[in-house]
Amino acid sequence: MSIRTVVRDRAVLAPLDVAGRPRRVVPFVVGYEPIPEGVSVDGGSRFRFLLEPVTAAAIVFDEGWMLVDGGFDPRRIRDRDLRLATFDYENYLPIVPPGDPLVDQIDEAGLAMHDLAAAVLTHAHFDHTGAARLLAPDQPLIMQRTEWEHVTTLADPRAAFLLFDDLNRAGLTIALVDGDAELAPGVRVIDTSGHTPGHQSVVVEVPDRTIVFAGDAADLRHNIEHGVRCGSTVGPHGTEAADAAIDRLHALDADPLVEVWPAHDPEWGPWRAVIDAR
Ligand SMILES: [Zn+2]
Repeated sequence: MSIRTVVRDRAVLAPLDVAGRPRRVVPFVVGYEPIPEGVSVDGGSRFRFLLEPVTAAAIVFDEGWMLVDGGFDPRRIRDRDLRLATFDYENYLPIVPPGDPLVDQIDEAGLAMHDLAAAVLTHAHFDHTGAARLLAPDQPLIMQRTEWEHVTTLADPRAAFLLFDDLNRAGLTIALVDGDAELAPGVRVIDTSGHTPGHQSVVVEVPDRTIVFAGDAADLRHNIEHGVRCGSTVGPHGTEAADAAIDRLHALDADPLVEVWPAHDPEWGPWRAVIDAR
């Protein structure tokens, strides 16, 4: 596999170009996908489909902002040939709203792409990597080293729920972190592997509360509230890791000042409201 992306340790790159603290969280719903309940919740039905939102979020500082995930690149979903070039799922049929939902919602939120400091990727699945196309070389995409190593050593990347070309292009910089790491004042990532080998969740301290973007370690609030792992894991130790991850998220959520947000829950209202702590 030839890698065109520049890949660096987060530690050797410049500090993220944000100032002050996180003040605002702007949630984005950029599409919908039908997912069997059993993929989201271990032990759930394989025949009951949920229409799950595909989500992303902006973390807005006094100056500058960061992005968490980014949904899918609508161009790669709409164009069948482009999709099948890297993704071996002929019958994946998400709902992609008109236009370019991520770009349009960033714009509607009054955020400028040139003020974006970095994007954080919970994991490399195709319905999360769509923001990578928007990043300039000095706006790194931050992911776990284990995740990068996993996706670059797969025997068959087309069968691993990836649009790998999202992560592999000239002009993209990937910044690697190892386990729990602080990214900027008030923003850190925590290891929640299991769903994928290098899955991470993002912890954001806004002035009146802490928001944890669980990613796909918890598709639904049910996972978090009942401590039930996700129904889809990778690798021989995936289920044990996913159990540890959901225990961690369940424990964080027990604090009344902490909200753990599931990545794909149709019933989770906060995906539809801006958190403004200015
Ligand atoms: Zn996933």
